[in-house]
Amino acid sequence: MTDVATTRTLSEAAHAASTCTKCRLSGGRTQVVYGVGSPTADLMFIGEGPGFNEDKQGIPFVGAAGQLLNTMLEEHAIARDEVYIANVIMCRPPGNRDPLPDEIEACKPWLEEKLRLIDPAVLCTLGNFATRFVLNQMVSISRVRGQRFRIEGRVVIPTFHPAAILHGGGMASKQMQSLRDDFAEIRKALDERAAAAPEPEPEEQLGLF
Ligand code: URA
Repeated sequence: MTDVATTRTLSEAAHAASTCTKCRLSGGRTQVVYGVGSPTADLMFIGEGPGFNEDKQGIPFVGAAGQLLNTMLEEHAIARDEVYIANVIMCRPPGNRDPLPDEIEACKPWLEEKLRLIDPAVLCTLGNFATRFVLNQMVSISRVRGQRFRIEGRVVIPTFHPAAILHGGGMASKQMQSLRDDFAEIRKALDERAAAAPEPEPEEQLGLF
């Protein structure tokens, strides 16, 4: 890695990314969609790439797929501002086409840096692109969803991309039930982590005299 520093903060990295021209997508974007959320999140989501609304607003998952993600978060008592949400690629592909391999490769150092800086304990990959990126294998999301993988010390839980539910089976589909089940698994992983965390040191009692 030559142009991605190792010691800067997340906001410094986001600032640097805002002028990225490492791939052709920079030519068609309104803005770079770096990511949103807590820089110290225990849970991070990785989607595919910005769509129309994300490109306009500069925030991931603000369109219809984002609404479904929000619903899943609410149903499982996970606050959106306590997680971090990013994508495999940071710029919208023309006509919302799939990201191309060289675009994913060009964006890779940004996402790797994000992961290193945020260092989430639990990582949820949404759909095929994010899952293949993180597992580094040509898996199919329908085969691996809901399972736990241990990658670089993190628990990785792949699930369906919310847009696939919206464009596919819909809210009463089997995939929707799977999405719910997978969010329950994420909740469980977070709870287990909280239960295993060491008790904070008791504060020293102030003497009265
Ligand atoms: N789909 C994605 O993969 N990412 C977004 O940010 C929005 C929709």
